[in-house]
Amino acid sequence: LSLLNQIELAPPDKILGLTETFNNDTNPSKVNLTVGIYKDNYGKVTTFPSISKAQKLIDRELGLNKNLSYLPIKGGKDYAENVKHFLYDESCSSSTNLVAGSEKNYGKQLIDNNRISFAQTLSGTGALAISAKFLALFISKKVWIPNFSWANHMNIFNKNGFKDIHYYSYYDVKSGQLTVDNWLNDLKEKVSKDKSPEPHCIILHACCHNPTGLDPTREDWDKIIDTINELKMIPIIDMAYQGLESGNLIQDAYLLRKCIDPKYVWDNGLFLCQSFAKNMGLYGERVGSLSIVAPSHSPPRVKEAVDSQLKRIIRSIYSSPPGYGSRVANLVLSDPGLKSQWFKDVNIMVNRLQGIRDQLSTNLDWSTVNDSQQHGMFYFTRFSLPVVQELRDKYSIYLTDDGRLSLSGINDSNIEYVCDTFKKIEN
Ligand code: PMP
Repeated sequence: LSLLNQIELAPPDKILGLTETFNNDTNPSKVNLTVGIYKDNYGKVTTFPSISKAQKLIDRELGLNKNLSYLPIKGGKDYAENVKHFLYDESCSSSTNLVAGSEKNYGKQLIDNNRISFAQTLSGTGALAISAKFLALFISKKVWIPNFSWANHMNIFNKNGFKDIHYYSYYDVKSGQLTVDNWLNDLKEKVSKDKSPEPHCIILHACCHNPTGLDPTREDWDKIIDTINELKMIPIIDMAYQGLESGNLIQDAYLLRKCIDPKYVWDNGLFLCQSFAKNMGLYGERVGSLSIVAPSHSPPRVKEAVDSQLKRIIRSIYSSPPGYGSRVANLVLSDPGLKSQWFKDVNIMVNRLQGIRDQLSTNLDWSTVNDSQQHGMFYFTRFSLPVVQELRDKYSIYLTDDGRLSLSGINDSNIEYVCDTFKKIEN
């Protein structure tokens, strides 16, 4: 008897599966508001001007794609230098003056003191998966995920060795508000009672929380990080939307700036999983990074050991990352002209998203849609599953099952239909 016969059908992917259904829908008025891909007012997935220019330079002038050999296991050296500089120096610079009392650029010190183990990864998902593998092998198999969260968080940690997956209270559907006090109480109650030596990891959405679109305030973050530090947890910062919160890439790195403040030691390391999928529009190119910041008290051999084990894990899965997208990102990060264009491109995208929020708030009676703590690509409608299904089956408007709506799928040609339908369905 074949063991293959015993394999059960896996459920379809909660998000990507819906696009298949959408593609088969014959209704000419159909609207896809499921996936987190930025589309312009014409419904097209856009290539930012900065990215197009970099592509042209790479292909025609610099000939960078002539050598299609393998990249090193942890990616290109230039990419590592430029991304670390962008994340830890620029995004953490004290001139942004956003961490109270910090006069020093602590991020730059981390680079200079060689405390960051860095790998180019297959976008944010790859960074999370490598983190999970690494943590499960050497440090911990316990993780806390917000309730709600991106559905793939659970999938990634579960499939990469984590046995102990918990959820912390993040959001109350009834009130549509964050529940930071409950979140911290959950942690204090359960983590402090666990007497086993294995530490607990925690996933933190750096900004533009997916799916609720609702982020903690800075004062909330201060409280949250203090608690996580007291409980000796391991922060895993998931930064998939840097720039999409405020329209300013640098400002949005608050959580990273906060966590690298030397008053927090993070004995078991600080993990940053970062993606250029959304903020550079490089979705399919799979460009991102994982960094593991070693604590200040660790001897140099610790970073060396971490580096070597990261290499070994990556080698066992995909050997080395792809080249093209990372060359594009690297060029944008290293050329001042392209970089300033990129900052503008991100700002334009965020203005359009805000414009859609404003239109929804005017056309519908949705007061929370342009709330100051609402950020990013998504709005969480709090429509119940039957309503989401009715929207899909009767009106061909597709949201994810949890009622999440991807804002940039709305444009001048469908906003009337979408708003009229929402009004109808709400009454
Ligand atoms: N984290 C969150 C919260 C996300 O929403 C996404 C993208 N949907 C990712 C990580 C990673 O995406 P990617 O692998 O495309 O960078």
